[in-house]
Amino acid sequence: MSILVVGSVAIDSVKTPFGERKEALGGSATFFSVAASFFNKVNIIATVGEDFPKKYVTIFKNRGIGTKGLHVVRGGKTFRWKGWYDYDLNTAHTVYTHLNVFKDFKPEVPKPLRKTKFLFLANIDPALQYSVLKQMARPNLIALDSMNYWIEHKRKDVERLLDKIDILLLNDAEVRHFTGESNLFLAARLIISMGPKAVIIKKGEHGVIYFSKDSRFVAPAYLLESLRDPTGAGDTFAGGMMGYLSRAGKMDEANIRKGIIYGSILASFAVEDFSVNRLLEISFEDINERYRHFKKITKF
Ligand code: AMP
Repeated sequence: MSILVVGSVAIDSVKTPFGERKEALGGSATFFSVAASFFNKVNIIATVGEDFPKKYVTIFKNRGIGTKGLHVVRGGKTFRWKGWYDYDLNTAHTVYTHLNVFKDFKPEVPKPLRKTKFLFLANIDPALQYSVLKQMARPNLIALDSMNYWIEHKRKDVERLLDKIDILLLNDAEVRHFTGESNLFLAARLIISMGPKAVIIKKGEHGVIYFSKDSRFVAPAYLLESLRDPTGAGDTFAGGMMGYLSRAGKMDEANIRKGIIYGSILASFAVEDFSVNRLLEISFEDINERYRHFKKITKF
């Protein structure tokens, strides 16, 4: 059961109180696919420019991530995002977002991938997310992520996706921005009334809350000694969760909860270093060790 993701593949420049990286590998589809690749085969639909370093494509290839849907635009420039964080690592401050090749991107899902059962519409222009969704036979699970940038610029496009998906993932600030409701419980209810079967609210270092029509689950973030760059934590979370679910078979409450924990564990590794660096160092045993420890420290 492979996974398909559409999202940004980017070159990020990021500054945090713990250091700075220029022109590093980033993007929502990147973090997602590296995390999900611990569990299953992932294929990316995205676009980059001719300036996209070959060594970054090699990173995908070395992890078995499918790049047939990664379109390279001759003479084009790759999507670039620059941001910084101060000691409140929950808030990213954007310096610029250069869509570049994403401005004219018309995603095409290669025919053999149209029946993929797990689809992640990672953060990117919701019109592109919609176009990918339209090309698919109904997957077993469709999850969607977005952000303030798109809620502000393309709200209608975000809204029309909601009754076509299973799980919406947003952070707490985005949920409040999107619904105009400060109480997250009420906001989640409002979102569910707009279509998705469930909503996952990401609260950074405070973990996540899962709401569906008739259940709720609360998971803390894994306690970390060192944290250097929170960029991509949300996408990594989604990659861990969907990766696990694509392996688990049944999409029942117990597996969804385990998926949320795996997502949180993967995100905890991602934030320990810049870009996807830490994710590239760890093994599946490292993930499982943290999973067992997570169980221990949340048991009562
Ligand atoms: P996250 O920290 O999980 O919200 O995701 C960070 C990643 O999102 C970075 O690697 C950026 O390249 C990417 N990103 C930032 N802004 C956008 C945007 N407007 N659309 C798509 N991806 C974005």
